[in-house]
Amino acid sequence: MQAAILNEKKQLELRDLPRPKIVPGGVLIKVVASGLCGADLKMIDKGHKALTYPRVLGHEITGIIVESETKEFNKGDRVQIAPGIVCGECYFCQQGITNHCQEIEIFGFTVDGGFREYIAIPEKAIKAGVLNIIPDNLSFSEAVFAEPLACCINGLELAQFTENESVLIIGAGPIGCLKAMLAKSYGAKKIILADKLAKRLDFAASLELDSLINVEEKAWHDIVNKATDGRGVDLIVLASSHVSVDHSLTGLLNKRGKILLFSGFADGKENLEIDGNLFHYGEMALIGAYGCTVKQNKKALKLMAKQKIAVKKLITDQISLNEIFKGVEKARNKETIKVIIKENEGGNG
Ligand SMILES: [Zn+2]
Ligand SMILES: [Zn+2]
Repeated sequence: MQAAILNEKKQLELRDLPRPKIVPGGVLIKVVASGLCGADLKMIDKGHKALTYPRVLGHEITGIIVESETKEFNKGDRVQIAPGIVCGECYFCQQGITNHCQEIEIFGFTVDGGFREYIAIPEKAIKAGVLNIIPDNLSFSEAVFAEPLACCINGLELAQFTENESVLIIGAGPIGCLKAMLAKSYGAKKIILADKLAKRLDFAASLELDSLINVEEKAWHDIVNKATDGRGVDLIVLASSHVSVDHSLTGLLNKRGKILLFSGFADGKENLEIDGNLFHYGEMALIGAYGCTVKQNKKALKLMAKQKIAVKKLITDQISLNEIFKGVEKARNKETIKVIIKENEGGNG
């Protein structure tokens, strides 16, 4: 069985591994499609806070159950695997904040993930709720978006974003686009998507948002202000690790405006320049968001099944596991939006 393993930073390798065996109470899954995520690129190029080596990458995983030793799931079930295996018992799990589980294991981070042909899911993970039946009207490739969409849901929930609000999303990569689509499904008052790459903005034109802005243009702040009648936006989402939070950015916020720190910051960008008085008098807030809960993953699948978010649009590349180096290179050069890796053929794709 082929697998893409990261031995250490910058050491990605395709290797032949023995096919995993089903464990008592678990299931064996033939992986059909998985998503290449910005976090994978980060792991490959720079390492990642939550990663241990060597690791089969891939945390956006879908497939078909080929063997089952649990009553809840049957052979032939089409499933999406939520990556977080949570304990269900710690303080955070009890609060429903499962992404902060103190005992969390994550496929593709601390246990081997989905960039391989087969994956065995242990009983503990099934009990933690990682397996989700893919609704009939969603393909495997679409269901891959459940996890990233769930992370976007987590962000907008933490920001308490509502339909009466305007949002400026900085970064028109896969996550920025997904966030914009999610905000649209909320019925957001105004959605502005910004990036410095014209090709990304060209792609985003198909999302039919209120405004697309190239931040390389000198007057881009004026465009945001004009679009919000001079008041500024209610929410700024940082969907790029290269944005500087400084006075010019916070100057774009409406009263009670919020900045959602969705991406980790690139080295040197992590210290933010904030005018405390602006935030005090303007009742503004800075909010972090990382990962998603078990519940949000299920919510994301439901939202897609209701055809509220047409994620298919975001798939620019479908490659086989053999072509992973090419896919990584293209994604690194930002020539893609979403890369789907097809490990095996399966039903309706
Ligand atoms: Zn991801
Ligand atoms: Zn826990």
